[in-house]
Amino acid sequence: MSCLFCKIVAGEIPAKRVHEDEQLCAFEDIDPQAPLHVLIIPKRHISTLNDLYQSDDALVGQLVRRAALIAKERGYDGAGYRTVLNCNSDGGQTVFHIHLHLLAGRRLGWPPG
Ligand code: AMP
Ligand code: ZN
Repeated sequence: MSCLFCKIVAGEIPAKRVHEDEQLCAFEDIDPQAPLHVLIIPKRHISTLNDLYQSDDALVGQLVRRAALIAKERGYDGAGYRTVLNCNSDGGQTVFHIHLHLLAGRRLGWPPG
C-alpha cells in the first residue's frame, strides 16, 4: 500500500485524529492554512473526484456532513468556514486519496489563488 492517507487510516503513519467512524477518518492537516484545518477522508481508497460513482453518494454526504459537524463542534458554524475538494493538477491535488479540507478561524480570500 503506497497511499499516504491509506497509511494514516491503517495507523502506520501518525496523525492527530479528530474523528473516526466506520466509513470516515478526520485528522489535522500537517501544514495548516487556517486556525482550524482538518482533512476528512473516506477510509476506502478513492483517488480523485473523477472516481466517484452513484453508489458513493451516501459516503460523500457523510463526508460533507462530518465537516459541518466538526465546524460546529469547534464553534465555527456561525462565523463560517470553507470546505474544499481539490481534483488533479489544476485543482491543486497533491495527495491522491480524496480528502475534504475544512478551513476555519480566519477570513478566507475569494477567488482562490
Ligand atoms: P491537496 O493539495 O488538496 O491534495 O491536499 C493535501 C493536503 O494533505 C495538504 O494540505 C497537506 O498539507 C496535507 N498533508 C500531507 N501529508 C500529510 C500528513 N502526513 N498528515 C496530515 N496532512 C498531510
Ligand atoms: Zn488511499
